[in-house]
Formats: sequence, structure tokens, C-alpha cells
Amino acid sequence: MVGAEDIVSRDRQALWHPYSPMPAAIPPLEVVSARGTRLQLADGRELVDGMSSWWATIHGYRHPVLDEAVRGQLDQMAHVMFGGLTHRPAVELAELLVDITPGDLAHVFLCDSGSVAVEVAMKMALQYWLGRGRAEKHRLLAVRSGYHGDTLGAMGVCDPVTGMHHMFSAVLQQQLFAPTPTPRFGERLTDEDTTSIAALLAAHRGEVAAVILEPVVQGAGGMRFYSPGYLAAVRSLCDEYEVLLIADEIATGFGRSGELFGCDHAGIAPDIMCVGKAMTGGYLSMAAVLCRPDVARWVSRAEAGALMHGPTFMGNPLGCAVALASIRLLLEGPWQSRVSAMEARLRQGLSPAAGLANVADVRVLGAIGVIETVEPLPMAAMQEVFLEHGVWLRPFGRLLYTMPPYISTEDDIDRIAGAMVGVAERVNPG
Ligand SMILES: *Cc1c(COP(=O)(O)O)cnc(C)c1O
Repeated sequence: MVGAEDIVSRDRQALWHPYSPMPAAIPPLEVVSARGTRLQLADGRELVDGMSSWWATIHGYRHPVLDEAVRGQLDQMAHVMFGGLTHRPAVELAELLVDITPGDLAHVFLCDSGSVAVEVAMKMALQYWLGRGRAEKHRLLAVRSGYHGDTLGAMGVCDPVTGMHHMFSAVLQQQLFAPTPTPRFGERLTDEDTTSIAALLAAHRGEVAAVILEPVVQGAGGMRFYSPGYLAAVRSLCDEYEVLLIADEIATGFGRSGELFGCDHAGIAPDIMCVGKAMTGGYLSMAAVLCRPDVARWVSRAEAGALMHGPTFMGNPLGCAVALASIRLLLEGPWQSRVSAMEARLRQGLSPAAGLANVADVRVLGAIGVIETVEPLPMAAMQEVFLEHGVWLRPFGRLLYTMPPYISTEDDIDRIAGAMVGVAERVNPG
């Protein structure tokens, strides 16, 4: 107990936390270890993880296969530079990614994080048009309610309001934005749903390099699920107006929405795709950008004669080895039936929230469950209720949401859903 307080007070002297002032508004909880779906706190409490450490730990913590993959690679080499050198884990990971992603995505750029993957994807799109002698095609077209990361380039294509563009307007690239994709998942697309994005593409086709969006599930920009029909329509519009399509699958990749990739709901393939988060099973920070052969060809013919990016830790062998192990583990198991069982259980568990006064919407897709409230709820009061239920969740704004590890039991899911409904029932706005 004393030890726990000591670490927390030292944390508050020294460390920033995500989207936090210094020190953070609510003291963090000290985690000493984690196993399966459980986080072990320094004060002896154990919490059921409802977050998968932000979409990443799909197989849970300390999975023996993943632990072994890291240990095995550690005995070979933890890291080696990727400029001029290569290694088996990187090659096998790239081949596997090419194999399982849709369409003819054939080439892979490995990088450190999701935000960096988005930067690289945007540079790829710009250099593609430079290669084709169309330098004027240098703007991105994004959709509202999107989220693509926190670096400046990625921020520029996040939702302008929730992404706080006004604070950084002096340095952000002015991109184009279509309205939030509609209709909702499961509803039929009508012509009106794509009128605005079609008009934007028609008006700006000469200057737009690429459309960037999250396929079917919009994550941190609003936890919304939209119709695969919209995605298919955008794919056709991109072809019609000679614009590349960048699919940001960093949150949706590796089964989370019920298909292996969000694009698979619509049966389409992008020209460039970003994956990250769950790729390493939550073990190490690594992401990848895939592209079609044609994209790579024109990038390589652009003025620089090369894709102008090269992170120090590119292709990190530990990351590649554990990503390979994590993806193989996923594909060897019955992930699809597991995710659909989680979907059914979440639907059942969250349904009591639907009638509550402060609840605007309850929605579930794959292993993602969301309660959207009418008014935002105070964080400290929510956290108290979660801890009473023995559950770890991290809501934002009006969104109570969960994306549990795929190994979660029915009992784990029921506890998570119970905690979310409990918060919606008991915590008052303001
Ligand atoms: C998390 C996320 C990112 C950014 O990834 P980081 O690894 O946090 O940089 C980008 N796009 C989407 C859709 C994400 O969910």
C-alpha cells in the first residue's frame, strides 16, 4: 500500500499521461502485472480489462505463445537497423500481411506507431502523384468524426472539432472534409448519403491526392459504425475521380469488427492501408503501411526516386516476431465465432441501458460495445463505479465503450457490461 502510493506520487512529479495536464486530473492506478484478461494493481485489487490496452491486447496479457516469441527473438537480436539489412521476422511478417489483407496490396512499409503509419501513407499518396507528374494533387479528403493519430500530419485529417484544429490552425495543412459517413451499420445506403463526398471529389479532383477514412468503424472520433455500402460507394468515387483510397485499419484490423479487416465488410480493397494497434498483440509498438504495386512504382519514379521515410526502429525484430506470432495465433483459432459470441453477449449485457434517461444510444459491432450518453459524465465518479465492479474502462466525452480481449469469458463480458450500465444508471452529469 505504501509502495503503491510512492510510485503514484513519483509519477505525478515526473510523468505526463495521455491527453492530460501535468499532473493528471485523476491520479493513475499502479499496475504491477497482468495476465489473461486481468490487471493486477499494487494495492491487491484485480480488474477485468475492458479496453485491451486501447484495441491492442487481443489475446490478453502474458500469452505463453507471444511471451515465447519475444524470448526466442531476444536470443537472436533485439534490434538491428533496417537500412541495407534485413531479417527473417520482417520478411515473414510482410508476406503474411500481404497474404491476409484484401486486394493486391503487395508491398509493406514497417514503422513505429499508428500515427507514423498515417504520415507514411499520406507521403506515399503525395509522392505517387509527384511520380505521375501531378504535383497539384496534394490535398487529402477526410470524413468528419474520424481519428487518425496525434502527429501534425495525422491531426490534419482528424475531425476538425474533436481534433481541436483551431488551436493548431497555423501549422496544420488545410484538408477537405466530407460529412460523417451515413447511414448506420445495418441500414441501407441511399444516394443522399454520398451526395456531399461526391460533390467534393467532383469539385476538387484536380487537387485531391487521396481520400483517407476508417473503414466501417470510426474509433476515437466518435465510436460510430457506418454502412459498408458507404465504403463501397467511396471506393467507386475514388476510381471515378482518379483519387487514391487510404484505409486506416489501425483500430479495425485483425478481427475487431467481426471481419478480419473493416474493408472486408464491403468487399473492397484500398490503394494504401495502415495497420497497427492489435498487430503485435499489444506487446510492442509497431505499425505497417501496405500499398498496391502501382502505387509503389510511381512513388519510386518520383523526383526523390525513393519513399522519403525511414524510422530508426523500422522493422524492429522483436516487434516483427511477436506480430507474426500474434497474427498466426489469431488465424489458427476460431476468432470469428469468438468475436460474434462476444457481440451477442455485449448486446445482451448492454441492452438494459437503452431505456435510461441519460442514454442517447447503445450500439454493438463485433467485439466493440458502446453506450453513448446525452450529457458527458464526470470521470472520477465513473471510475469509482468501474472499480466497484472490478472493471477497467476509460470512457471519453459522452462515450462509454469497451473492446475486450478476444479471450474474455462470458463472465468477463457480463462484468464489463454490468459496470457500463451501472455507470449510465448511477452517475449524474455535471
Ligand atoms: C490509434 C489510432 C491511430 C494512431 O495510432 P498510434 O499508435 O496511437 O499512433 C491512428 N488511426 C486510428 C484509426 C487509430 O485508432
